[in-house]
Amino acid sequence: MKNIKDYDLEDLKQELVNMGEKKFRAEQVFKWIFQDKVTSFDEMTNLSLELRETLKQNYSLSNFKILKKQTASDGTIKYLFDVLDGNAIETVLMKYHHGFSICVSSQIGCKMGCKFCASTGIAFARSLTSGEIVEQILAVERDEGIRISNVVFMGIGEPLDNYENVVNAIRIINNQKGINIGARHISISTSGLVPNIYRLAEENIQCTLSISLHATTDEQRSKMMPVNNMYNIEELIKACKDYISKTNRRISFEYALAKDNNDNLEDAKRLVKLLKGMNCHVNLIPINKIENGKFTKSSNENIIKFRDYLNEHGIVATIRRELGSDIDAACGQLRRKNLNN
Ligand code: SF4
Repeated sequence: MKNIKDYDLEDLKQELVNMGEKKFRAEQVFKWIFQDKVTSFDEMTNLSLELRETLKQNYSLSNFKILKKQTASDGTIKYLFDVLDGNAIETVLMKYHHGFSICVSSQIGCKMGCKFCASTGIAFARSLTSGEIVEQILAVERDEGIRISNVVFMGIGEPLDNYENVVNAIRIINNQKGINIGARHISISTSGLVPNIYRLAEENIQCTLSISLHATTDEQRSKMMPVNNMYNIEELIKACKDYISKTNRRISFEYALAKDNNDNLEDAKRLVKLLKGMNCHVNLIPINKIENGKFTKSSNENIIKFRDYLNEHGIVATIRRELGSDIDAACGQLRRKNLNN
């Protein structure tokens, strides 16, 4: 059965017109799903009983079930959702002073194999549909009785490897008649799939692009991120410059600091050279220690020195607050634990 949450408003209008309904019915259905967050067609009380029956026979609402929920001492909540086909995905809710931010997964597993990522080693199963991406937001809002204000595509999966579904999900999230979260409050994080960075620049979506850079030489980066063998740093930075010039948006570069790997002054110097003059921001991430992984966290002293060097040389850099560190917040860990249990 088709998941009705996979449709953006324009496609849903077409579906309902094909059923012999007026277009405004699609707006009503869209509002029930994404604003009122109903979990059954029976709750769509301004639709005729006949239409509700037809919808029931042709579409599912695919409401996720919570398999596991862990709350950290800082209020971060990690969900493990049953996506109704025997697979499970992770979603993380973070509470900031400015509101609630959700970190969504875009795929079940990931093909990219970044060495610092806890998802590495979990086989790629499939990409999520648009409906499954937006359902993560709806399921968390329903469970916590809250309104989410920020969405980051930084959970399991490479969002630009699931390009069409992610872009379609963003259109639903951004639609004022849908979830209605401003594009500037939506952020896509990519390991660097260069052709799709160029494609995204042409979409006319004002979302924030976040690049997992993590190293300043190809040798270093290829060891951490195999994607660098396909698209090297020079090609990646060129695509980022194109994105900035086409969208006028500032890019955020993620840089996970790992002890004795990419956290010394020479790295900071190369990073300044690489990003000089770009409209960007560097997010320094104290790497989470991964069980059996190669990388360990840099010392606090090194992290601060690294940040100060960037700031003193014209690159805006901040250190990301470690949220949920007591609940295995590095992506992939909850799922792996659950599978082992
Ligand atoms: S860091 Fe992201 S892109 Fe890299 S393997 Fe993990 S989930 Fe995939």
